[in-house]
Amino acid sequence: MSYINENFLKLQENYLFSNISKKVDKYKKENPKKEIINLGIGDVTRPIIPECIKAMNKAINEMADEDTFKGYGPEQGYEFLRKAIVENDYKNRNIDIELDEIFISDGAKCDCGNILDIFSANNTIAITNPVYPVYIDTNVMTGGAGEYDSVTKTYKNIKYLKMIEENNFIPEIPKEKIDLIYLCFPNNPTGAVLNKKELKKWIQYAKKNNSIIFFDSAYEAFITEDDIPHSIYEIEGAKEVAIEFKSFSKTAGFTGLRCAYIVIPKELKGVTIKGEKISINKLWNRRVCTKFNGVSYIIQKAAEAIYTSQGKKQIQENINYYLENAHIIKEGLQNLGFKVYGGTNSPYIWLKVPENKTSWEFFDLLLEKLNIVGTPGSGFGINGEGYFRLTGFGTRDKTEEAMNRFNKYFYKK
Ligand code: PLP
Repeated sequence: MSYINENFLKLQENYLFSNISKKVDKYKKENPKKEIINLGIGDVTRPIIPECIKAMNKAINEMADEDTFKGYGPEQGYEFLRKAIVENDYKNRNIDIELDEIFISDGAKCDCGNILDIFSANNTIAITNPVYPVYIDTNVMTGGAGEYDSVTKTYKNIKYLKMIEENNFIPEIPKEKIDLIYLCFPNNPTGAVLNKKELKKWIQYAKKNNSIIFFDSAYEAFITEDDIPHSIYEIEGAKEVAIEFKSFSKTAGFTGLRCAYIVIPKELKGVTIKGEKISINKLWNRRVCTKFNGVSYIIQKAAEAIYTSQGKKQIQENINYYLENAHIIKEGLQNLGFKVYGGTNSPYIWLKVPENKTSWEFFDLLLEKLNIVGTPGSGFGINGEGYFRLTGFGTRDKTEEAMNRFNKYFYKK
């Protein structure tokens, strides 16, 4: 008999994206002449910048030459990339992070899930709602989330931190003691951000309660306002309580190339049941060396190229392109009287669905009347009901055309 991990049976099907494609496919079949614009995508559309392509071509040629060929690399990532990260993402912001506090990976999605390998499933967990679903499902897989309650649509061991209009999409600090806290800012899906003062409150809470914060800053590159921290370590004391997850996916269009990194400061400690303090950095290093053989040399060379002066300029052009799309959507919707959030420090626009419609009712309306596809907020959790996500990741002409359609349909004289 081969027993399975029964926690997997507690996973709830996430029908969000499959329901969207079913509805879109059906509509297309019935209306083959209609041109559908997709503003629901969370993937990028701009190609990889020339500087990265150049670096990859060079790396490929190195692989073809006996003298420069590379086999297995360091599990933690090549030093050249970790150095570029330390210099550009941290030293330039007056943050002191050492090379061996950085671990290169093939994605923030994997990192967010894999990190649970080194934590007990008995920790109390807090997760914002609405949310990037990976945080919840990976805790279900370890057993840490507990049983599912089909009435409340929640897992018993997870403390859900509401992000709603009434709290400006800023989660409240829990009253009780929580061991592991997931924060993602700039936020997917709401586009909300935490300023330094708000983030400082979380650091203070974590210090007081010996908690660890998992800080997902996959959308850091979209920050445009001054007071919004680009790294949690901009806040004093954060190195004792936080792990940072970063990704090149949205920063540099690496969703297909795959490269990200995780920062685990040496100050960060967990405890054994007996109360002995253990370095999280050491545990993670052990886990990485055992289960991972590193990201491809070619891809790490591409990631390094992002940090050259040309690379920085080129990726910024793409970020500005997406931000301008987001701005066009946000301003267009506001002019039509919609309540709109996000879109300033984020590619995501989170809008309040008008006339008390549900998220899915609004989805159907946009699809059928405007031929526009977006993402129903309820797919990101119960507090997303009544909201809708649009993204700036489309092309400019499609974004502008989508806003023309909104204007035609929603403009009231
Ligand atoms: N974290 C958040 C909040 C995301 O929205 C995404 C992707 O959409 C990821 C992580 C995944 O990043 P990666 O492509 O590096 O796995």
